[in-house]
Amino acid sequence: MTTTSDFATEHTINGVEQVRRLVTEIPGPQSQGLLARKANAVSAGVGIGLPTFITKAAGGVLIDADGNSLIDMGSGIAVTTVGNANPEVVAGVQEQAANFTHTCFMVTPYEGYVQVCEALNRLTPGSHDKRSALFNSGAEAVENAVKIARAFTGRQAVVVVEHGYHGRTNLTMGMTAKNMPYKQSFGPFAPEIYRVPISYPFHDGPHGGTEVANWAISKIEKELGATNVAAIVIEPILGEGGFIVPAPGYFKAMADFAQANGIVFVADEIQSGFCRTGSWFASEFEGVVPDMITTAKGIAGGMPLAAVTGRADIMDSVHVGGLGGTYGGNPVACAAALGSIAWMEANNANERAKEIESIMLPRLKDMQINHPTIGDIRGRGAMIAIELVKPGTMEPDADRAAALNKYCHQHGVVTLTAGTYGNVFRFLPSLVMPRHLLEEAMSVLEEAFEATSA
Ligand SMILES: *Cc1c(COP(=O)(O)O)cnc(C)c1O
Repeated sequence: MTTTSDFATEHTINGVEQVRRLVTEIPGPQSQGLLARKANAVSAGVGIGLPTFITKAAGGVLIDADGNSLIDMGSGIAVTTVGNANPEVVAGVQEQAANFTHTCFMVTPYEGYVQVCEALNRLTPGSHDKRSALFNSGAEAVENAVKIARAFTGRQAVVVVEHGYHGRTNLTMGMTAKNMPYKQSFGPFAPEIYRVPISYPFHDGPHGGTEVANWAISKIEKELGATNVAAIVIEPILGEGGFIVPAPGYFKAMADFAQANGIVFVADEIQSGFCRTGSWFASEFEGVVPDMITTAKGIAGGMPLAAVTGRADIMDSVHVGGLGGTYGGNPVACAAALGSIAWMEANNANERAKEIESIMLPRLKDMQINHPTIGDIRGRGAMIAIELVKPGTMEPDADRAAALNKYCHQHGVVTLTAGTYGNVFRFLPSLVMPRHLLEEAMSVLEEAFEATSA
């Protein structure tokens, strides 16, 4: 299937030793001092997953202010897919920043923006004529996808799914399923957002993807009327929702329904895109060619950039001046994206993602034998999660997920939880994660299961 030749085996990347090494407890004294300053300076609403301050990163590790070296299994939430401070990204950023840092593309344009759009039009699914527009954050891309779909269709309703996540701005909060922490006390939300069932194989029992899609479609037809719907927005693999991979047929059936009814089908690939899943875009696993696709996170190696890419007729239907923003497609962020994309194309990024999967899945399956709290193991490529339940039941075990997370953090592995019930443990390693660190992270997780078992 895959070869091992492309997989990172380096023990030093960018001069940083690829090792897990704790020299203080977590957080150490330097981080504790910074945490105290944070409490006095930063809004309490901005939470922290792992309370240690980072000063350097490369390959698969983060170095903190106390000199601890942590294995990074989160990539800043699927952002540093090409590795933190990837040399090609850094070189592009440095050169661009020294030339000029900003003009505002809407005032006086520059080539980098056009190059990123050309790359997006080439790499996203489908060989049809496409156009792109660039923004700063994923939420902003989703907002613009909705704006464009409404302008094109002359319709208002937006359909989203259970467990979906689309961001934290007002429109995208409304599109996001989970209340805490994203929506609680922040309403009222934007109107004309409707939520339909998602295929969630672990919880759906015998119901297949097409069957669940038919329920969703029936709901749209009966409760909204297909002719009122501007867009259906779905993540091909749900991110914050807990790496739910809809059963085969679901995503395709929703896309086919949309396309048969003049509805713009938007794949939100902000988390699943850019080689994260072993494919440039996760829509490809279902052979779906979305009308529009939103991207961000992995696109630019850590610089803030987001995009909407879609059918030329849809994207060009907006009046001149209708899309934009002061910083959207900032030249430094565009240079980072071009470095990141060039790295992915030159380094068999998708093969690396598949290899990460081939290392992690057997390890997790082994753990499941001794720890039946692992109800489900799922995901694709370097986007893998486990869902934790009370053994022998389907009851979510968020406490266990939190305990495992804490153990991993205290033992030098940066891990993330997810899921509507907080009971999903998710892994998003960078594609330059050296094999020995990936194996070691799995061993720490195994220890965590032992240490937290009742
Ligand atoms: C992270 C994410 C967003 C929001 O992106 P931000 O850059 O945080 O605004 C939207 N959709 C999906 C699928 C995401 O994972």
